[in-house]
Amino acid sequence: MNYRSYSLANFEHIPQVRNYLSKDDIDAVKIIGSVLPFKINNYLVNELIDWDNFRNDPIYHLTFPQYGMLSGEDYILMQQAIARGANSTQLAEVASNIRKRLNPHPGEQLTLNVPVVDGSIIKGMQHKYDQTVLFFPSHGQTCHAYCTFCFRWPQFVGDTELKFASREVSTLLSYVRSHPKVTDILFTGGDPMIMSARMLMAYLEPIIEADLPNLSTIRIGTKVLGYWPYRFLTDTDADELLRFFDRIAARNINLALMAHVNHPKELQHPAAQKAIRRVLNTGVQIRTQSPILNHINKSAETWRDMWNLQVKLGCIPYYMFIARDTGAQDYFSVTLEESSYIFNEAYRQVSGLGRTVRGPSMSVDTGKIEVMGVTEIKGEKVFQLRLIQCRNAAFVGKIFYAKYNPDAIWFSDLEPAFGETGFFFEDKKELLNL
Ligand SMILES: *Cc1c(COP(=O)(O)O)cnc(C)c1O
Ligand code: SF4
Repeated sequence: MNYRSYSLANFEHIPQVRNYLSKDDIDAVKIIGSVLPFKINNYLVNELIDWDNFRNDPIYHLTFPQYGMLSGEDYILMQQAIARGANSTQLAEVASNIRKRLNPHPGEQLTLNVPVVDGSIIKGMQHKYDQTVLFFPSHGQTCHAYCTFCFRWPQFVGDTELKFASREVSTLLSYVRSHPKVTDILFTGGDPMIMSARMLMAYLEPIIEADLPNLSTIRIGTKVLGYWPYRFLTDTDADELLRFFDRIAARNINLALMAHVNHPKELQHPAAQKAIRRVLNTGVQIRTQSPILNHINKSAETWRDMWNLQVKLGCIPYYMFIARDTGAQDYFSVTLEESSYIFNEAYRQVSGLGRTVRGPSMSVDTGKIEVMGVTEIKGEKVFQLRLIQCRNAAFVGKIFYAKYNPDAIWFSDLEPAFGETGFFFEDKKELLNL
């Protein structure tokens, strides 16, 4: 299949959009799509979205901006700007002001986790937990389509040369070499699988060749199985890419695709299943993760079916996340209580091979916090929480408690239980490097 993408500029050319969407639906796409990213492709439009039932279709909600993703006030601001014929500079300014209110950089990602070497910061990397360095290849900062719940602002990717890739990689390599605790490099974006095989090799080959004794795994975060499985099937360099995966697997480096899968539908399509088989045949691992999202996957049956199908196809369920406190969080939010209920309900219904999954997990400054559930201790109803990742590995595994709050959707909505004045890690900022 040939890839064709649509954006705000041309989505009205999509026949299904003309046939099924009302004028109000189209206006909502235009208004919200001017603030939040919007991009979709022919595979999603023609193969995954069930247009006869599009209002309830998870893939439609996953990719098309929906009324309700902006607050009423922000919606009206942008609606009025468009109605009065504002030019592109003016629209950009309105959009930028709205975005600032949407907490675009949750968890202080921009300032807190950026490695510093010899007093200067290293761009394109983040290092928060001992074992895993995040690497943002500059050529992998866009995606085959954009998720409505995502707020990683897609940056324009120019035709920078291969040279640039190797310069980025050599910085990464010297960093990993001088941090022996690092075992994992996580390529992230955007979606690094947007890159051509050649470009990906330009990044990965020097890492393999460096033979770093501490490196065990290269992870690549990707949505490509759901958004463009033809990456591994019919794209002109699909076979080249798979041969490259073969070579990596033969080098005793674990290459793991961290596949973002939000709904079982994405893996029911024969193209996705064929893509998975081809990838697994190379010896590369596929692990799966998704946030729990209202309108998309807010039910135990959906998660059960998703984990079962993943296991059946040879993938390894890895994370259920709580949607971050950014972008259209209100539209997608599921309370912590319901998230943990759904997780546990689904977890009980899958075999042990599906219970490799962890969560539901919130990523906050301190680390990843798992919401284990609601319980009662000494007559007080509480959330039982656990740090499953932490800036200071000494705290990993620590269980702690928060007052029960049925409306809580994020860690910031929680207070310590038992009348305590702070969570156990809050007076340990130095130990946490905060
Ligand atoms: C989740 C995450 C990781 C990976 O953590 P694992 O528990 O090893 O999957 C690494 N860095 C950051 C910033 C993360 O949020
Ligand atoms: S694939 Fe990932 S990075 Fe790309 S839009 Fe979706 S959530 Fe964001």
